Amino acid sequence: MRIAFHGAARTVTGSKHLITLQNDTQLLLDCGMFQGLSDELTDSLNSSFGFEADKVSYLLLSHAHIDHSGLIPKLVKEGFKGKIICTAATRDLAMLLLQDSADIQRSENQQHRTQRGKQDEVLEPLYTMEDVSKTAELFEVICFEEWVQLQEGVEVYYTNTGHIIGSAAITIRVTEEGQTKTLHFSGDVGRYRDVLLCPPQPFPKADFIIIESTYGNSLHENQFSTTDQLMKWIKHTCVEKQGKLIIPAFSVGRTQELLYFLNQLSLEKRLPEIPVIVDSPLSYETTQVVKKYPALFNERLQKVLEIDDDPFSFPGMRFTRHVEESMQLEHFHDPCIIIAASGMADAGRIRHHIKNNVEFERNTILLVGYCSPSSLGGQLIHGDKQVKINGQEYNVHAEIGVMRSMSAHGDADDLARYLSCQEAASVTTVFLVHGEYDVQQDFQKKLMLKGYEQVLIPEMHAVCGLNEIVAETA
Ligand SMILES: [Zn+2]
Repeated sequence: MRIAFHGAARTVTGSKHLITLQNDTQLLLDCGMFQGLSDELTDSLNSSFGFEADKVSYLLLSHAHIDHSGLIPKLVKEGFKGKIICTAATRDLAMLLLQDSADIQRSENQQHRTQRGKQDEVLEPLYTMEDVSKTAELFEVICFEEWVQLQEGVEVYYTNTGHIIGSAAITIRVTEEGQTKTLHFSGDVGRYRDVLLCPPQPFPKADFIIIESTYGNSLHENQFSTTDQLMKWIKHTCVEKQGKLIIPAFSVGRTQELLYFLNQLSLEKRLPEIPVIVDSPLSYETTQVVKKYPALFNERLQKVLEIDDDPFSFPGMRFTRHVEESMQLEHFHDPCIIIAASGMADAGRIRHHIKNNVEFERNTILLVGYCSPSSLGGQLIHGDKQVKINGQEYNVHAEIGVMRSMSAHGDADDLARYLSCQEAASVTTVFLVHGEYDVQQDFQKKLMLKGYEQVLIPEMHAVCGLNEIVAETA
């Protein structure tokens, strides 16, 4: 058995790891898109997998986030005909996100052509809606905590990681020439005290562990102060300044968390009587998917469900689904809260709201998630006084707020707790993926101090033979 790291290697996107067995069966762990690097690098990394799509037999998908699922339709377009194995919630969410991704690519290409005035220039998108439809036929749903045999000598076992609804870690047991080896892939690890979801589950004893390391060297702020922080921004912006509170948020996860916090404030009668608008058709759809899987909610949220059958909806809140409704918001001048995607404000309807509101002191743009430095959200956090949106310069007079307590990823303590179900000395190798290199180096030292003998940080496209493991990638 050997493994090749074709993405999320010394970076946080493009998750893609290929396992090749002795009999040449190939299992792909995730098929994520690269995002947020320089345009040129992102395009070149997304244009070629580094392996042949039609040779892959199984795609084991950890969760629906685009940096883990975003290139599946390209895999299908290039000849993959195998099974995509994931949880039911992941399948539902992935389909929504992949349709959205195909749609974004179509409209970006169109915009690109219009801007360049070359109507006839044909730009090839990574995939189309047709490829997404073909992808839909290949899903095969798996339940948590059940060993499933894929073929003789290959079994898989999914455990909940509490990162987003349906997110899983994947354990693979392979028997070759009478020897059984177990490999665990963490996907993205959630938080043990997540606001909405169950904590990550322990996983079976493994010889090899591939673990994410996004926050391998830092700790999050306590998220239980989030409701109060949010309330402070609402009061300050909508009551004192009579302005609009604009919150960029990813459609999956972050939007539902915000709605849950606002719902809590509403239940406690602390929320002022102002409209709360979620301006995103995708957020509407993803919220419906989240509501379909209440068994994955944590105990606290289960308790809320006993008194409130919809913890993501409250008086004054509405989704806008049509473009016309969204455009009308420009002429709405009363205090309100607008939540829209994307989270880093580099795409989606949020850009229109920032464009229309960023030049007025009475408004606040509140950033509640990670923003890469080059994104619009990142520039605002950095304190830029002028920002460019759709080719036009805008002066930043609105207040810029930042809340760092919300994250779907576990921090260093969560990751340590996640690994505590294993005996360090009996793990042959830990591979660190899905992290910035300097963070990974700190995490590597920490794990070695805990007794893990071999902790490797593979480079992009590095290959490791697991039977004759060598430290070539250390
Ligand atoms: Zn994720």
